[in-house]
Amino acid sequence: MHRRADQGWIEVICGPMFSGKSEELIRRLVRFQIARVPTQAFKPAVDTRYAVGEFVSHSRLTLTAEPVTNSDELLRAVEDRTVVVGIDEAQFFDDGLLDVATLLANAGKRVIVAGLDLDYLGRPFEPIPTLMTRAEYIMKTLAVCHRCGGPGMHTQRVVESDELVLLGATGAYEARCRRCYDPSEAVQPPLDLGETVATA
Ligand code: ADP
Ligand code: MG
Ligand code: ZN
Repeated sequence: MHRRADQGWIEVICGPMFSGKSEELIRRLVRFQIARVPTQAFKPAVDTRYAVGEFVSHSRLTLTAEPVTNSDELLRAVEDRTVVVGIDEAQFFDDGLLDVATLLANAGKRVIVAGLDLDYLGRPFEPIPTLMTRAEYIMKTLAVCHRCGGPGMHTQRVVESDELVLLGATGAYEARCRRCYDPSEAVQPPLDLGETVATA
């Protein structure tokens, strides 16, 4: 009943760091698992920040996920019987993810992809922006601006580095609203907003 080919589609969950993308992805996948719909979850193998074999949100929600090194490997790992495919941290995948997601959706699978839509300089962070044009459903999640509490849509880097991807540096990023976001800003110590924010 779950396997009709006309039920395939793509859902995108995007927004800055700390906006609840992983939480939302986990929430959707857990609902399918409760309904006993065959589900598989994938994450890029480079993302080893908290754990290798699972998704972990900043609020420490977890879900078992298979690490894969690229979109090809992801495609090969998807089992025939799988109906729902969840993918977190899509910005760490190659652009091949666009075709892989399309192929899976065309084959009747529900592909749910979460990732950053903007990099720390405020530029579109592929493949999410293009994937949004190929998706049936899009959700943009917002964080709480670490400076003013406003709607945080940007990821601001607060340590000095020119690397596009800077992994595992605790405290290296803050969520910022459009007024507080300034990619050219000199590095400033983060505001003390208390435990929940400071440790995430
Ligand atoms: P994402 O995957 O988008 O980085 P997560 O789902 O991992 O986000 O984490 C979201 C959780 O992070 C929130 O529910 C909250 O507990 C915590 N959090 C920490 N800092 C912030 C912030 N500035 N704004 C919103 N949530 C935050
Ligand atoms: Mg996340
Ligand atoms: Zn702000």
